[in-house]
Amino acid sequence: MEATIEQILNIIDNNSDIVFFGGAGISTESGIPDFRSTDGLYNQEYDYPPETILSASFFKSNPKEFYRFYKNKCLKPMLNSKPNATHIALAKLEEIGKLNAIVTQNIDDLHHKAGSKNIYELHGTSFRNYCIRCGKEYSIEDVMSNTEDYMRCECGGIVRPDIVLYEEGLDNSVISKSIKAISEAKVLIIAGTSLIVYPAAGLINYYNGDKLILINKDKVKNEDNIDYVYHGLAGDIFRKVLDKYK
Ligand code: NAD
Repeated sequence: MEATIEQILNIIDNNSDIVFFGGAGISTESGIPDFRSTDGLYNQEYDYPPETILSASFFKSNPKEFYRFYKNKCLKPMLNSKPNATHIALAKLEEIGKLNAIVTQNIDDLHHKAGSKNIYELHGTSFRNYCIRCGKEYSIEDVMSNTEDYMRCECGGIVRPDIVLYEEGLDNSVISKSIKAISEAKVLIIAGTSLIVYPAAGLINYYNGDKLILINKDKVKNEDNIDYVYHGLAGDIFRKVLDKYK
């Protein structure tokens, strides 16, 4: 059912064992474009759709084009972005013992920067990079400042971000911990995600409770199965959470 901001705030007030499941929409208010909003990366002109460029086979066959897109469209906005009210409020809810875990599809490190501790990054992070030949690690700054067509290690191997590319599987231990957290949650808040990318989106099916909340700008599929739906910005709600608990 459609829910008001007040109803969602009341559920947060009256419960602990909350788990948060988020996606790219959580970071749009920090200036990082998502994929599927009207101003997201899917609605801009490129030679290939983002899903193709950010796939394992494309990375292998065309690392130059991969890095051109990835650096301009993903890394550049991430590098100087700061956590917004939603990231900060979630860190606060964890600190005061209401929130057990954040399960995120994001690769932008903003939950860490906000101070959250128990974070399951389903798709890895752009802030770690490694050589596929020798394993040497590189920072995001190393990757951004590299002027070659694509990043190579001093051993000659190609450097890749520690993110899960399309066509690759998720880390089993991250999946198990996410499933455990979601299945034990009293409240599950889903926010800023189109729930289109699998297997990540399927994890919400492990929730067993009766307080499933969706906070999303646009409609998503199967909203009828969700207990409380708010169509709007995550910041509309979490700015108020922050006011209350800061
Ligand atoms: P998506 O782009 O498919 O969907 C984002 C959803 O968030 C949309 O439904 C949109 O309506 C909603 N939204 C946008 N701004 C919002 C806001 N301020 N408040 C509430 N809702 C908002 O994103 P997805 O489902 O996460 O899937 C995209 C995939 O791409 C993920 O796997 C993710 O790893 C990756 N990605 C990550 C980032 C990042 O790390 N910040 C950015 C882009 C894409």
